[in-house]
Amino acid sequence: MRTWVRAPLAIFTGEEAAGGLVVEGERIVECLPAGGEPAAPCDRVFDASEHVVLPGLVNTHHHFYQTLTRAHGPALDKELFDWLKALYPVWAGLTPEHLDAATRLALAELLLSGCTTAADHHYVFPAGLEEAVDIQAAAARDLGVRVTLTRGAMNLSVEDGGLPPASVVQDADTILADSERVIDAFHEPGEGAFVQVALAPCSPFSVTPEIMRETAALAARKGVGLHTHLGETEDENAFCEARFGCRPLDYLEDVGWLTDGTWLAHGIHFTPGEIERLGRAGTGVAHCPGSNMVLASGLCPAVDLEASGVPVGIGVDGSASEDASNLVQEVRQALQVQRLRYGAARVGHLDVLRWGTAGSAACLGRGDIGRIEPGRLADLALFKLDEPRFSGAGDPLAALVLCGAHRADRVMVGGAWRVEDGAIVGLDLDGLMARHREAARSLVGAA
Ligand SMILES: [Zn+2]
Repeated sequence: MRTWVRAPLAIFTGEEAAGGLVVEGERIVECLPAGGEPAAPCDRVFDASEHVVLPGLVNTHHHFYQTLTRAHGPALDKELFDWLKALYPVWAGLTPEHLDAATRLALAELLLSGCTTAADHHYVFPAGLEEAVDIQAAAARDLGVRVTLTRGAMNLSVEDGGLPPASVVQDADTILADSERVIDAFHEPGEGAFVQVALAPCSPFSVTPEIMRETAALAARKGVGLHTHLGETEDENAFCEARFGCRPLDYLEDVGWLTDGTWLAHGIHFTPGEIERLGRAGTGVAHCPGSNMVLASGLCPAVDLEASGVPVGIGVDGSASEDASNLVQEVRQALQVQRLRYGAARVGHLDVLRWGTAGSAACLGRGDIGRIEPGRLADLALFKLDEPRFSGAGDPLAALVLCGAHRADRVMVGGAWRVEDGAIVGLDLDGLMARHREAARSLVGAA
């Protein structure tokens, strides 16, 4: 099956493609200049003259389960540590039904915003939820979205000097055994993967140095990535100074994580020297602008990080991030918040689109997605500019970001349309939302 996505209104790509692109099977096989014709006949022609075409957006950091605790009253108007302490007791009641509903809802929300690959960081494993990654892998396959499921972990409870309560931590042997199990069961190495697994002890203040070291060794042995929260708040700096006698990045290096196989969520509070060290190592950063604003965490030095060689991607984060899972909105927020740090001339709409596509793909260690060029997977997000917010706009690519696109009209994953006319193919979205609302009610009600 060959499909010609013909003559888009605008296209964001590394190559000349004003004439559109040709998809064969799961891959892009041709990019055409203006007026160009495919080299061989096509079975289908999709007229993209009203669409802005992007590579499918890639989300580098999320906690799908947190869609159940958006705008949670007792957690409002708090910064990270107090926000977490207000929510841990609620999350301790998570069941398989809650997580399945949350994962499907979050993936649907992401897909409708143009996201075709999403990383999730699941680190809450109360009794009864031992098969959390299994649940998420099945949901992602059903929805046809690519995922990097990061097996999170917490083993440092408040009794041992950490932040989370004992009800949500596991012991190191359980964590490592399950990490190995889920890699063996679900990780698809190589190109074209739909499900990949990475390992993700939660943060310096919720795990021990021993679990960080042993996780790094296991990831190296299995050839999977490493992910954690780092450089998010000044409170984290103070915690590391008090407990480890060093700053968070020194701690990261000490436990063997300062490598190009690691990507970090947030990466805000780094000194110029630390930014250079991250760049030399090739460690990625998932910039989560909405979360950083809502929790008043700070301004990520994304331009300096990228200039030093750090792969910079974008993440919607969990429910702190504007309490939404809308990746194209997050791209816009990246532009706005980065201009507060760097001024208007140093961050443009093409920069933030690059972060949300190729930059995010690099964070996840994937060279098969994130750009529109022959040989890459046919993961595409197509937006129409037919709402009042776009009326009268000039440059279509700039309008997508500046006027605030929020819903894709069409989304393709691996050559298959997953969103058509703004709706997910084969999904009863109203039914899913009813189920998700009920899950949220029961989770919060039980706490
Ligand atoms: Zn997070």
